[in-house]
Amino acid sequence: METKVEWPGDMPEEEFRRFASQASEWIADYFNKIEDLPVLSQVSPGWLKEQISPAAPDSGEDFAAILADMDKLILPASTHWNHPHFHGLFSTSTSGPGILAEMLAAALDMKAMLWRTSPASAELEDAVLGWLRDMTGLPDVFEGIIYDTASVSTMHAIAAARERARPDIRELGMSGRDDLPLLRVYCSEEAHSSVDKACIALGLGLRSLKKIECNDVFEMKADALAAAIEADLAEGIMPFCVVATIGTTSTTAVDPVEEIARICESYGLWLHVDAAYAGPAAILPELRPLFSGWEKADSIVMNPHKWLFTPFDLSAFYCRDMASLRRAFSLVPEYLRTADSATVKNGMDYGFQLGRRFRALKLWFVIRYFGREGIAARLRNHCRLARDFADWIRQSENFELMAPTPFALVCFRAVPKHLAETQDQSGLDEFNERLMNKINASGKAYLSHTKLKGRLALRFSVGSIRIMPRHIEEMKELLTGAVAEIGLSMQ
Ligand code: PLP
Repeated sequence: METKVEWPGDMPEEEFRRFASQASEWIADYFNKIEDLPVLSQVSPGWLKEQISPAAPDSGEDFAAILADMDKLILPASTHWNHPHFHGLFSTSTSGPGILAEMLAAALDMKAMLWRTSPASAELEDAVLGWLRDMTGLPDVFEGIIYDTASVSTMHAIAAARERARPDIRELGMSGRDDLPLLRVYCSEEAHSSVDKACIALGLGLRSLKKIECNDVFEMKADALAAAIEADLAEGIMPFCVVATIGTTSTTAVDPVEEIARICESYGLWLHVDAAYAGPAAILPELRPLFSGWEKADSIVMNPHKWLFTPFDLSAFYCRDMASLRRAFSLVPEYLRTADSATVKNGMDYGFQLGRRFRALKLWFVIRYFGREGIAARLRNHCRLARDFADWIRQSENFELMAPTPFALVCFRAVPKHLAETQDQSGLDEFNERLMNKINASGKAYLSHTKLKGRLALRFSVGSIRIMPRHIEEMKELLTGAVAEIGLSMQ
C-alpha cells in the first residue's frame, strides 16, 4: 500500500511538484528569449514599488499568480546579466548546473557554522576549493574558505594581516591608545574600492591606506611601493599589508606580483592578491605567466561568480596562514561549544558570519558538469573573442584602444575625425558618453565606462557563457552605426 506523506504547514507536495516543473520551464523559456529582452532594464526608478501592494497579504495567494508576476513585474525591472550583450562592468553568467545546485542547496537550507550543523557543506567546501586551487596551479599550502564576495574576502585578508602584525588589537581595539603607531596598508591607485572599504570597516581608517602610483599600463610601480614602505618606516608608521591585483577593475591590468612578493618578504608584510575577476583564467596554461608570483602570497581571492559560470554569490578565499585568520575571528559562545572542535573545521571560526550558505554545492556541480577542459575551452573562447574585438578596434579609423587586453576586457573609445584632429579631449569624453548612453538606451547591449589617465574610456567585457562570434559582429555594427548617427546629429 502506498503511504501518503503529509507536508504539514508547507505547500502541498502535489503543488510543489507541479510548480517546480513550471519554474524550471520558466527558466528555460527565459534563456530562450533573453536576446529579445533589453539588456539594461528600461524601467524608471520607483516603477516596481508602485506595482507592489504596500501591505503584505493577510491570506496566502495562489502560487500560479505569484509565478505569473515574474513576467509581469520582475522581468521588466531586471537587467539581464546573462544576456550575451551584457558587456558592462564584468560580464558574468550563471549556468544550468549552477542554477540547479542553488535549488537543491535551498532545499537542504543548511547553515554552515559548525561541522555538525552541515558536514556536507564543511567537507565539500574543502574538497571543491582544493579542486579549484589545483586547477589554477596554486600549491597545496593554501587552504580555502568560501565567502560571499571579494569585498568580504579582502576585508578578512586585511583582518588576518592585522591580527598577525598586532595580535593585541583583538582585545584592546585601536581607539584611545597612544601605544599604537599608524598601521599601513598599500595597494595601487587602480585597486578595487573594496580595499578602501575594508580599511574603513576594520577601524584602520582611510588614512591607513596608501595608494601606490601605476605605470603607463596601469600596473603598480614596485619601486614606488618599496620607497613608500621605507618612507613610512622612517616616520614610525607600521606597514603590515600589501594588496596586489591581478586583473584590475578598470582595465584588468596585472601588478608585478613577483616583485611585490619579494618586497613583502623582505619587510615581513602580508601579501593579499586580489584576483577576483581574473583568477579563474589561471586554469588556462597559456595565461598562467600572468599569475607569476601569486603562489608566494599570504592570501588570494578569486570569484567563481565572476568568471566561472557559478551563480552569484561565491568568492573563493585562499590563505596560507589560516591560524591568523582563525585567531582574528574565532569566538565560541557556550551554546556552540562542541567536543569535536579540535578535529573538525567549523566555518564560523574563519570569518565574521556565524551561519553560512551551502555555496560549495554549486561550484561542485559546475566543475563536475563542465570539467576542467570544458571550463578552459569557454574561458579561452572569451579571450579570443575579446582579442578579435580589440583587433577590430585597433584597425578601425573611428576607434582606438585605451589599454592592453590581457584577459577578456577591451577598453576603447570612439575617435571621430573632427574631434581627433583637434585633439579635443573633453569633446571626445562627451562624444563617448553619448555613444555609451545611446547603446544602453537601445536595449541591444550594455557597456560601462571608466576614466583612464583622466579620459573617458568604454569597457567591453566578454564573459557570458552564451556569447558567440556573431555577437562580436553585432557589436561592431551597433558601434559603427551609433558613431555615424551621433556624428550626423552634431553637424
Ligand atoms: N576586486 C576586483 C578586482 C573587482 O573587479 C571587483 C568587482 O568587480 C571586486 C574586487 C569586488 O567584487 P565583489 O562584488 O565580489 O565584492
